[in-house]
Amino acid sequence: MPTVTRPEPMPHDALIIGGSYAGLSAAMQLVRARRRVLVIDDGRPRNRFAARAHGVLNNDGKPGAEIAAAARAQVAAYPTAAFRMAEAVAVERIDGGFQVVFADGTRTTGRRLLLSHGVEDVLADIPGVRERWGRTALHCPWCHGYEIGGGPIGVLGRGDHAAAYAATVAEWGQVTLFMGMETGLSPEDARLLYRRGVTIEPTLIARLEGEAPTLTGVRLTDSRFVALKAIFVGANVRVASPFAEHLGCEMTDTPMGRVIKVDGMQQTTQPGVFAAGDLARAASNITLATADGMTAAHALFRSLVEEETTGAV
Ligand SMILES: Cc1cc2nc3c(=O)[nH]c(=O)nc-3n(C[C@H](O)[C@H](O)[C@H](O)COP(=O)(O)OP(=O)(O)OC[C@H]3O[C@@H](n4cnc5c(N)ncnc54)[C@H](O)[C@@H]3O)c2cc1C
Repeated sequence: MPTVTRPEPMPHDALIIGGSYAGLSAAMQLVRARRRVLVIDDGRPRNRFAARAHGVLNNDGKPGAEIAAAARAQVAAYPTAAFRMAEAVAVERIDGGFQVVFADGTRTTGRRLLLSHGVEDVLADIPGVRERWGRTALHCPWCHGYEIGGGPIGVLGRGDHAAAYAATVAEWGQVTLFMGMETGLSPEDARLLYRRGVTIEPTLIARLEGEAPTLTGVRLTDSRFVALKAIFVGANVRVASPFAEHLGCEMTDTPMGRVIKVDGMQQTTQPGVFAAGDLARAASNITLATADGMTAAHALFRSLVEEETTGAV
């Protein structure tokens, strides 16, 4: 019989910070391998502003919280799953693993760390966007475009991808692209927008109007009103907690913002630290986060087995 040595006394094989789609997906894999997993979560998933989640196979149109709650219950049914519904405020590497500190000062340790705590959206600073975010001020046409049901839709042009974004959104309605601060469009972009039937409006938006979360349209800085059913405002993201940078993980820039750098198996540049979900990718949705969680769990599992069989971390 081969010898199996499991370092003790770490109470958990894996600490998972962020118990939403990516974290729960990883936890599911690990508890099915009978690994002791602690899922840490403080209940602020990125999509909490939206009434329903769409485009999620077998869960289309369900509230995002309902999808996560069902997943949590399925993970919790395994005897090696543990949950701590609290904010993690610090993480440090210790001999043989990692230590997480909670807001109340308590601590726990584990052999491996999975960061799946998501990102925060940095919204455009236009009056009326915040109170409509996730309802009529949107970022993802694949998630919410169909439900608008056609008609006039706005796109707030931000960054180099404004034209491509507007050209995509045009699939779901009659689009006006509000160029705002942008300097101009290349001839190729202008041609693309013309072919997609997009109207270009160079005047800045002063505010969104209507009884939030309903949107009736936007008031421009020159006082004109443009009627809209919804507006896609895009969003830059920032990683929701600073743990990766504190642990020395490399970050990488994407068109959406700076995220954690991972390899094809969701391994960060720091040994024993894995990252999955929105915080480690550019384009994101529930399905991709779930897939990342599964990939990370398999890599994390393999690193545990490697340590147990060869002593290498
Ligand atoms: C408005 C909106 C609507 C969306 N609609 C859809 C949709 O219809 N369909 C779709 O597929 N995708 C949708 N998305 C995208 C989807 O929400 C994300 O891709 C998905 O939530 C990413 O999952 P995740 O597990 O990586 O992170 P999240 O779901 O954001 O979860 C991160 C978790 O980590 C926790 N956390 C963070 N920091 C800490 C900490 N320090 N301590 C403890 N816990 C912590 C948070 O509380 C949270 O529960 C939408 C996004 C937005 C913004």
